[in-house]
Amino acid sequence: MSDQLQFETLAIRSTLPKDRQTGSVSPAIHLSTTFDRETDGSYKSGFVYSRNDNPNRQLLENSVAILENGWKGFAFSSGMASIAAVFQCLQSGDHIILPDDAYYSVVLLAKDVLERWGLEFSLANMSDPTSVRQAVRSNTTLIWVETPSNPQLRISDISAIAEIAHSAGALCAVDNTWPTPVLQKPLELGADITMHSTTKYFGGHSDVLGGCLVIKENEALAEKLKAIQILSGGVPSPFECWLITRGIKTLHLRVMHQTRSAQTLALWLDNHPKIEAVHYPGLPTHHLHEIAKEQMKGGFGAMLSVQVGLNAKQAMTLTGQLNLFTTATSLGGVESLIEHRKSIEGVESSTPENLLRISVGLENIDDLISDWEQALRKM
Ligand SMILES: *Cc1c(COP(=O)(O)O)cnc(C)c1O
Repeated sequence: MSDQLQFETLAIRSTLPKDRQTGSVSPAIHLSTTFDRETDGSYKSGFVYSRNDNPNRQLLENSVAILENGWKGFAFSSGMASIAAVFQCLQSGDHIILPDDAYYSVVLLAKDVLERWGLEFSLANMSDPTSVRQAVRSNTTLIWVETPSNPQLRISDISAIAEIAHSAGALCAVDNTWPTPVLQKPLELGADITMHSTTKYFGGHSDVLGGCLVIKENEALAEKLKAIQILSGGVPSPFECWLITRGIKTLHLRVMHQTRSAQTLALWLDNHPKIEAVHYPGLPTHHLHEIAKEQMKGGFGAMLSVQVGLNAKQAMTLTGQLNLFTTATSLGGVESLIEHRKSIEGVESSTPENLLRISVGLENIDDLISDWEQALRKM
C-alpha cells in the first residue's frame, strides 16, 4: 500500500476484504477450520487449517503491520499471549530487562513462569537510559519497553533504549498498547518489535480480547513467531479478528478525540486544589514531557492517573461519587473508566495507594469535567 497515504486512509483501505467471489465490502467471517486441497497437494487459497492461518486473521495482521509501518504482523488471543510469544523466542539462560513499572502481569509472567524455564530477568528504570545500560548483562537478549507506563505514565526514550539494546546484540520490544500507532510508531524509532493488547484501543469497545505483534524485516524472528503461533495455538478466533479489524476503521477518530479530552481533563485536574498530583505526559510539568513530545505525534494518549485523598479508602470513595466514570479495570473503550490501581496489582505493587487510573472515553468533555467538579466538591 502506498507510503503516501495517511493513517486514516490506510486504516480504512487495509481492512477492506479482497473477496472477489462475493464482492462483499465488509469482511465475511470465515468460521471454516479447514480449507480445500488440490489433488496435486497444493492449496489454491493458501489456507490449510485455521490454527495456522485464517482469512480474518490475515486481514487483521496485515492491517496492524501497515499501521505500525512494519514488515509482518502476528495476532494472538490476548495481549499476554503475544508477550509470552516474544519471550518464547528466547533461549534458556537468556536475560531480559523489564521496566520496573511494567504492566503488572508481565512481571508475574517472568517471575512465575519464565524463571522456571531458565530465563533470567531484572527490572530497570526505563525512564533513565543510564539505569538501562547498567542493567545489561553479557546474556541480555531482550529489552522490554512500555511507554507511557502503567499506571504512573512514565516516559521512556525508545530511540535511546533501542540503541542500548542493539549495541548489546539484544532486541528492543515496545508495548505500544496505550499510545497506539496513531500517536507513536516504535519501529520507526528503532525498536525491533511492537506489541499491542488489541483488547484496548484497537477493539475499542470493551468486548473482545486480542494481542498483536509487528516486527521489522527479520526472517529468523518471523519463523520463530510463526512456529509459536501455530504450535502453542494461542490464536484469536475469526470473530475476534473481525471485531478488532472493525475497530481499526475508527481507531484514529477515537484515539484523537479521547486524547484531546484527556489533555483537557488533565489540565483541569492539575489546577484543582484537591488533586495532589496528575500523571500525564501532556502536562509541561511532566518529567519527560519533551521526550514524549518528540516520540508521540499528535497527542499524549487518553490515559492519565491522579493522586487524590489521604489514603486508599478516600480515593476509592471518590470513584463512587463519579457518575460518568465506570469503576472497572481495563482501558481504551468508548466509555470512561476509573480504577484504584494498587488494590488490583497486589501487595507488592509500588503504586501509590491514593492513585486512581483514568481511561478517558468518548463522552462530551464538558460533561466529564462537571462530573469531576461535583464529585470533588463532596470530598
Ligand atoms: C491490557 C494490557 C496488556 C495485556 O493485554 P491482555 O489483552 O489483557 O492480555 C499488556 N500491556 C498493556 C499496556 C495493557 O494495557
